[in-house]
Amino acid sequence: MIHNTLTNSKEEFVTIEPGKVKMYVCGVTVYDDIHMGHARSMIVFDTVARYLRYLGYEVTHVTNFTDVDDKIITRAAKEGVEPLELSARYIDRYFEDAAKLGINRADIYPKASESIGDIISMVQRIIENGFGYVTDDGSVYFAVDKVQDYGRLTNQRLEDMESSGRVQLDGQKRNPMDFAVWKAAKPGECTWDSPWGPGRPGWHIECSAMIEKHLGEQIDIHGGGNDLIFPHHENEILQTEAVTGKPLSNYWMHNGMLQVKRHGMSKEEKMSKSLGNFFTVKDVAEKFDTHTIRFYFLNTHYMSPLVYGEDMLEEARSALGRLVNNYRELVSYVRNAPEGDAGSDDCCDLIEGYRSAFRDAMDDDFNTRQAIEVMFQIARATNRAMGEKTLTRRAAERHISLIDEFNGILNIIPQDDGADDGTLDSVMDILIDLRAQLRKDKRYDLADMIRDRLKESGIALEDSSDGAKWKRI
Ligand SMILES: [Zn+2]
Repeated sequence: MIHNTLTNSKEEFVTIEPGKVKMYVCGVTVYDDIHMGHARSMIVFDTVARYLRYLGYEVTHVTNFTDVDDKIITRAAKEGVEPLELSARYIDRYFEDAAKLGINRADIYPKASESIGDIISMVQRIIENGFGYVTDDGSVYFAVDKVQDYGRLTNQRLEDMESSGRVQLDGQKRNPMDFAVWKAAKPGECTWDSPWGPGRPGWHIECSAMIEKHLGEQIDIHGGGNDLIFPHHENEILQTEAVTGKPLSNYWMHNGMLQVKRHGMSKEEKMSKSLGNFFTVKDVAEKFDTHTIRFYFLNTHYMSPLVYGEDMLEEARSALGRLVNNYRELVSYVRNAPEGDAGSDDCCDLIEGYRSAFRDAMDDDFNTRQAIEVMFQIARATNRAMGEKTLTRRAAERHISLIDEFNGILNIIPQDDGADDGTLDSVMDILIDLRAQLRKDKRYDLADMIRDRLKESGIALEDSSDGAKWKRI
């Protein structure tokens, strides 16, 4: 089931072509480093794509770069560089940050600047079909009053929007709600030749043109932040349908906004570049690792608003630490685990039960929070069974591969932890034995030094009646 913004309800997911998913997610305008608000959308749709692939779908995931835009032009002029040089720099930095977020690359990253021919072709067809008009200065506008049902995603009527007083007639528009699909050239801007004279695309048109080029007339899932619903996604629908006469996307998925509460403000506001209340992925990734950041986002339903705070990332780190430690302990437990009854049915039933609970959660509109709860259930149960030495080696191995299976979708447990070749375990065994010997010899200063230095490296020693145990902190 997927929550569809079009119907504002959860619907059974049926693809256009069996076994294949065409997914388009609106990307970023590349004029600065991406912030945590972008990170949320990237992680949400990365997880959606990973889960659909896990289910066996062949997913084509397209995410665009808006590299022709007012903000890019202004910033480039300020820095004295070409707009496309500036955007290329931030595209490189986007990929650096995406790697820090543990994102699988989309299949195609089209850029507006490389899609001009497709955009012009679409604008031409919009005009031919009677939905667009050219103004004296050589701009092209989309005529919203030619459309029967404007406002499908927001459930608004054109008359209501017009009378709300939020829109004003400017320039050469015939209707205040009309929007530019092609903007006539202004001095100092990057422009391309077109049948209407030199100019550049409006913002909304690039997504319609890229979808048509890379995915076809109709797609299965269109995604983005819920701040894009109006006007961007409404307008994408109008443009594409004016050309194809068919619904653009069967499912519209929108993630909730990441919010920030600033001092002196009574309520939260959306994290955004323009409000200046943003935290870049680069800065946050200096303090928090990839998996903590992913856990922080995925431990909330993607549609819910989420308030950003370092304290919440700290909490995420310590909660995730329990899963990571459990995973590592399972891996080291396997080495000395009791053999037991290898094919015990209990274990198979248990594993199947976890798998179906995890899948039920993800099938219910990608409820990652619930899916993570299943991982905590596994951690609690296996911790208990390891303590009681009732977990057989075979059962421990099956639990590990189940966690790996889930982690292939959520990517919240670092694979170099625990899944290493056991070198760290061996080194820790040596240090623990050495420290025990030092304590026996009453050389507490050296014993404490080992403990303190390990703590500085992020490893805590806990003394128990069976000797010391270690864990990451
Ligand atoms: Zn878009």
